[in-house]
Amino acid sequence: MQKVLSFLPDSFAEYEELKAILEGGSALFEIRTVCETRVRGRSFAVFSASIGSTDPLAPAIGFFGGIHGLERIGSQLVLDYMRSLLGRLEWDELLVRQLQSIRLIFVPIVNPGGMWAATRANPNGVDLMRNGPQDADEHVPWLAGGQRLGAWLPWYRGRRGSPMEPEATALLQVVASELASRPFSVALDCHSGYGWRDSIWFPYARTRRAMPHLPEMFALKTMFEHAHPHHGYLFEPQSHQYLLHGDLWDYAYDTRPPASIFLPMTLELGSWIWIRKNPRQIFSRQGMFNPVKAHRTERVLRRHANLLDFLTRAAYSSQRWLPQGVVRQQLLQRAFDFWYRTQHI
Ligand SMILES: [Zn+2]
Repeated sequence: MQKVLSFLPDSFAEYEELKAILEGGSALFEIRTVCETRVRGRSFAVFSASIGSTDPLAPAIGFFGGIHGLERIGSQLVLDYMRSLLGRLEWDELLVRQLQSIRLIFVPIVNPGGMWAATRANPNGVDLMRNGPQDADEHVPWLAGGQRLGAWLPWYRGRRGSPMEPEATALLQVVASELASRPFSVALDCHSGYGWRDSIWFPYARTRRAMPHLPEMFALKTMFEHAHPHHGYLFEPQSHQYLLHGDLWDYAYDTRPPASIFLPMTLELGSWIWIRKNPRQIFSRQGMFNPVKAHRTERVLRRHANLLDFLTRAAYSSQRWLPQGVVRQQLLQRAFDFWYRTQHI
């Protein structure tokens, strides 16, 4: 057995990249190990890194990736943004000022054990994005919506009633203490593998009902469209695609303090188009979820950097655009008409 293990690498590229970024930015980032995970004799840390205002009331934005170990491009996107941020801090006065009144939190590899082992699930075989305790209130897709049959099948939620997995608990703790505890915060969690188009999903995944912050989400969507008219994302509630048991963002959203405005989003990079352009990559396990050709990876990273930057600016400027009173009421109506009227009343 020992002999077999020795052929496996001790680490993986994204993890080494993250450590290099943290080392380079150690004077600027506040770095924490939020969880340790062990897989086949190796140990990996789940790191969080924060930067910017230390005022607990300042708006904040969190960037997450690598919840599913096969979706490396999501981690790469967050790492890319961290790297560019550090580079810009050497000269970008606007960014320096921005960080004086906003906090940025990064957890680029939530499931390092899964990424090392090239599995979607964590080392215990649990799909972290199905690991929340809540059930969907309607029918979910068989297996893919989350199942409790066992870890031998994909999309395993874990045993009913057992504690959440360490990585899921760590992520929720970061969200509760660093994001949702504030008057205003945003989260972006980067995934890949589903759909022809790139999508931005927001709660709920457990129900077809609308989230209480629908007007705020609609305002954000409208601003993004005005800033980047050709963005090409499908921006919608996750429930328009399929319902899900145990979605961690639903759980984090539902357990936020009542007065907080917390807007979690999932960026789902549509991978089917990469497969169509390069059909051979369907035979590679990684290829189902990541662009294989280097030029395509670069294009993906470049394209989505705009979104990360936009959300950071929107969080910084929240006082200028968060809807209030009558305006909020009108936005609620428009948002409801746009997302829910024809489909799911
Ligand atoms: Zn995913």
